[in-house]
Amino acid sequence: KASVLLEGDQMIANGNGDVGKVQPTHELDKLREERKTLPIYSFRERLLQDVEKNQILIIVGETGSGKTTQIPQYLHEAGYTRGGKKIGCTQPRRIAAMSVAARVSQEMGVKLGHEVGYSIRFEDCTSEKTVLKYMTDGMLLREFLCEPDLASYSVVMVDEAHERTLSTDVLLGLLKDIARYRPDLKLIISSATLDAEKFSDFFDSAKILRIPGRRYPVDIHYMEAPQADYLDAAIVAALQIHVTQPPGDILVFLTGQEEIETAEEIFKHRTRGLGTKISELIVCPIYANLPTELQAKIFEPTPEGARKVVLATNIAETSLTIDGIKYVIDPGFSKMKSYNPRSGMESLQVTPISKASSMQRAGRAGRTGHGKCFRLYTSYNYDSDLDDTTVPEVQRTNLANVVLTLKSLGIHDLVNFEFMDPPPCEALLKALELLFALGALNKVGELTKVGRRMAEFPVDPMLSKMIVASDKYKCSDEVISIAAMLSTGSSIFYRPKDKQVHADTARLRFHSGNVGDHIALLKVYNAWKEANYSTQWCYENYIQVRSMKRARDIRDQLERLLERVEIKLSSSNDLEAIKKAVTSGFFPHCARLQKNGCYRTIKHPHTAHIHPSSGTMALEHHVLPRCVLYHELVLTTKEYMRQVTEIKPEWLVEIAPHYYQLNGVVEEDYSTSKKMPRGKGRTSTSKQIPNLVDYSICV
Ligand code: ADP
Ligand code: MG
Repeated sequence: KASVLLEGDQMIANGNGDVGKVQPTHELDKLREERKTLPIYSFRERLLQDVEKNQILIIVGETGSGKTTQIPQYLHEAGYTRGGKKIGCTQPRRIAAMSVAARVSQEMGVKLGHEVGYSIRFEDCTSEKTVLKYMTDGMLLREFLCEPDLASYSVVMVDEAHERTLSTDVLLGLLKDIARYRPDLKLIISSATLDAEKFSDFFDSAKILRIPGRRYPVDIHYMEAPQADYLDAAIVAALQIHVTQPPGDILVFLTGQEEIETAEEIFKHRTRGLGTKISELIVCPIYANLPTELQAKIFEPTPEGARKVVLATNIAETSLTIDGIKYVIDPGFSKMKSYNPRSGMESLQVTPISKASSMQRAGRAGRTGHGKCFRLYTSYNYDSDLDDTTVPEVQRTNLANVVLTLKSLGIHDLVNFEFMDPPPCEALLKALELLFALGALNKVGELTKVGRRMAEFPVDPMLSKMIVASDKYKCSDEVISIAAMLSTGSSIFYRPKDKQVHADTARLRFHSGNVGDHIALLKVYNAWKEANYSTQWCYENYIQVRSMKRARDIRDQLERLLERVEIKLSSSNDLEAIKKAVTSGFFPHCARLQKNGCYRTIKHPHTAHIHPSSGTMALEHHVLPRCVLYHELVLTTKEYMRQVTEIKPEWLVEIAPHYYQLNGVVEEDYSTSKKMPRGKGRTSTSKQIPNLVDYSICV
């Protein structure tokens, strides 16, 4: 169990750092009274009756009405957990699952992880006793693999269904299917928006229960002219509210951790020296990777005379309810995944939000009283530039992972799978192609032994292939460390602004011998292990402690999974073998150096650059490698490859002969020969996957 994180969660539960302690009775009484003031409370009996009479129920209610925290408790109180059956409640976001579980355990006066628990990728905080289980939608999807009829559940609540994440959409299809032969299973689909009819239609006219929320009017203010720098505009607006407006907390929507951290610094800088001229402004960040012990801060009541400004990602749109917000600042952007099925490129980009999102954001200001929302764009922008709703993720993402999961569940007919909104056919085909290339599917689209092994790992197929392939190269020990380091979701290296030179020097030590970023990550992990997982060692080497602890938790889990698929843990110090194992999973992500110093991805020619954070770029007198493999592409000012390792072009032909042909990869070599590349050879002449026609038939 991830004890470090567990302690942090208990801190949310208690709000005062009393790790692991259960609430004293008077606290419990207070919480019990608070529960009765929530809008959903007066609907308790109606709700229970509706669940009793209907197998599937759609629930719509304003954010903060009590859906997530109360419905599972009501059902528990009404006996739906009798005989140890579980009530599952899915959330699109990890942090919401953790925070809500903590809150509910507090309301019930039990220890988190006992009767109430949560399960997120790489972290299971549940026990035999757990009957209320909060989890990410992705985790419930994985539970289907072990328990295809979800027999241990009496109720499944798909919460925040309006978010329409990929996993939620797949769950909706699977749940609709199992509901037919499990009449005792109750399904609740809950959403914060008004598009309930669409969910109802999908579930054959399921009953809709609407819970009117408390909602006060919100005045909406637009900018007169578009803003060049929305971050700066947001900070100015917040400070203006602080000095001119009556009490009430401020919620600012930003796009990600980095932006939030920048904003925090600017706030500190601008309020410094103002001393007692202004009242206290408490800055509270909230984003997915925020350490758990800091998350509690946003829920603490603001002290008298002070004002809180919450800097949040989309997470505060509907997933988390923060009380006391009176002012919302909405720059109009969020980070969105987009996917080009033709090239197979996926990228995370700052994108304008939809009208539906901006309504949700504004609504956050009107929960406790008359509020104000400042939109940092013009009303013309709103009317003409924003889409009505956000495109569901299933239509803008790489589907390889989902296709592998569905195939493992024995669902072969993907075209006729009941999606609420079907994915583009091209994207499905692309996913099948990739899985075929990785050896997870055979020519007729059936799961292979390799594919079955890959599906056991809760990571993307290229990563799971790299792990499975490490068996052959006898280096599974090293490869799972690399996989864990690549899966932490946050940066490993720490580079404070005032110590950049020191940080860079420390970092270069792991790159000595120009081993590439993957091996450097391995060296960091091993050195930390050698130092007995010491925190001090992390400080000395400018390494993020939190990321390392997470990597260790992930690695432990991957190690357990290795056993399940009968791969022996074997260790090797042959760097070439390790790189070959990595290449076995990531050969579709390779690029060659061009004459002009840029890289061009081999399979689907596309210009890209090595990310400046790569060790390859940091080495003095660095020579750009001819052929590289990268972990991911990110689009910022340019298309960048992140986590880059030099490989030998011959490996591609050796490892993936079905994907790369000799002449496309090896023959021409601009960096050693001066002659112009010959005609077609320039763009790769990689072989098409055979039997594409078969594929169209078998999807
Ligand atoms: P909904 O799901 O309908 O948006 P929730 O059940 O999440 O509503 O929240 C109901 C109330 O519970 C909120 O108004 C909030 O005050 C309180 N609450 C929820 N989570 C927490 C938490 N982690 N800490 C403190 N209060 C919380
Ligand atoms: Mg909720």
